[in-house]
Amino acid sequence: MSITRRKFLGLTGAATLVATCSPNALTGQTLPNERPDYAPSPDLKKLHALTRQRTSMLGYPINMNYPPPAFFDWRQKLDAAGLNKFSFNSVGDPFKHSHFFFNTHDFERELIERFGAIYGFTHKQVWGFLTNSGTDSNMHGIYIGRTLLKSRTGIMPKIYFTREAHYSIQILRNLMNLEWVVVNTQADGCMDVNDLEQKLKANSDHPALVVATIGTTFKGAVDPVDDIQSKLKGRDSYLHLDAALFGGYLPHTPFADEVLHTQAPDQSARYHSIAVSCHKFFGFPSPAGLFITTQSIFDEFEAQFGKIHDPEYILQTPGTITCSRDAVKPAEFHFFSSESDFSRQAIDAQNMMDNANYLLNEMKTHYAHLEPTRANNLSTIIYFKKPTDRLINRYTLATIGLKQKDQSVPYAHVVVMPHVGKTILNRFLEDLT
Ligand SMILES: *Cc1c(COP(=O)(O)O)cnc(C)c1O
Repeated sequence: MSITRRKFLGLTGAATLVATCSPNALTGQTLPNERPDYAPSPDLKKLHALTRQRTSMLGYPINMNYPPPAFFDWRQKLDAAGLNKFSFNSVGDPFKHSHFFFNTHDFERELIERFGAIYGFTHKQVWGFLTNSGTDSNMHGIYIGRTLLKSRTGIMPKIYFTREAHYSIQILRNLMNLEWVVVNTQADGCMDVNDLEQKLKANSDHPALVVATIGTTFKGAVDPVDDIQSKLKGRDSYLHLDAALFGGYLPHTPFADEVLHTQAPDQSARYHSIAVSCHKFFGFPSPAGLFITTQSIFDEFEAQFGKIHDPEYILQTPGTITCSRDAVKPAEFHFFSSESDFSRQAIDAQNMMDNANYLLNEMKTHYAHLEPTRANNLSTIIYFKKPTDRLINRYTLATIGLKQKDQSVPYAHVVVMPHVGKTILNRFLEDLT
């Protein structure tokens, strides 16, 4: 039996290999980005060279600046205290007593409370944790939304988001087996709430799990949270905000309201949970994310989660899908929740806004034919018709095909991040000629 099975697997494997490789093997042609068939060995010199190129990366939403010296002092203090030397593990809910106590839950809880305050969550009614990434944060938002809506109604929700949402939402939708109701967008790329209203009506027999994006990945469009919320009135619904990049800097701009959890005059909630990446705006040196929701949403979720998950082994319901969790990152990221670092972030946010304006104006003046576009005043993303491949590679620009009159036209974008100052922008502008 086992031999037959192995044979079968072997055959399937070989067949797959032939299917994927044969077109290339037959023509003998090399694909442009194919890996060389020798494997370069790891090389510290090469690594060092990379650090010198970092500020010419303009195409992805990553802050390539070093964090301030005080961050590295903080790291040293953590190191002296023994962190990152043996296996600390932050398994479990940072807001609960942990039987396994070799963790950094105190740091994690405080940083979530501080960021909760930044996003206007009510003091002491916040729940959240430091995730592995924006995607992990989105996963928890969608999972909690799905769990709540299913338990309240007995019916699986449908998930609503636009094609401009990050590709991780499509993966998570698939993972959680949710039916996608595709919501159309306006010309600038943000969610069309009239289309949302119609689609809500057409799917009225299912609860609605909506993912709104504050700063779509390519265009930087901002879905209108309050208009979406008003269309959801009277419906069994859950609204998760994906603010991976914009959620970092908007609190320090005149547009802080866009990511606020509550709104005047009655302090009603605008959304249920929010996801923000730590390595994007903040420039945290490794991937991590913030996931923040309210204590009452979490309590309702936990009552359901406790039925799925047997808490016997760790003596609590962990609250997180992931079990073992990094203890180093929350302690390190705690630095970014200090008043002094919030001031630094405010300066970075201002510079990004100024430099995005500068790039847009310069491109409009000198390269109008590239049709440079900024979706809105909140965005620091400028997208334009794709320049030469030389520039795409030199500045690590992301490219995408945008539909125009049934044709796909190649576009690229620059994401103006804290490391993108006038010097590098001027060099980029010169290179565009
Ligand atoms: C980058 C991004 C994500 C994914 O975040 P990671 O931290 O890379 O997992 C999700 N949504 C949006 C809008 C993003 O820009």
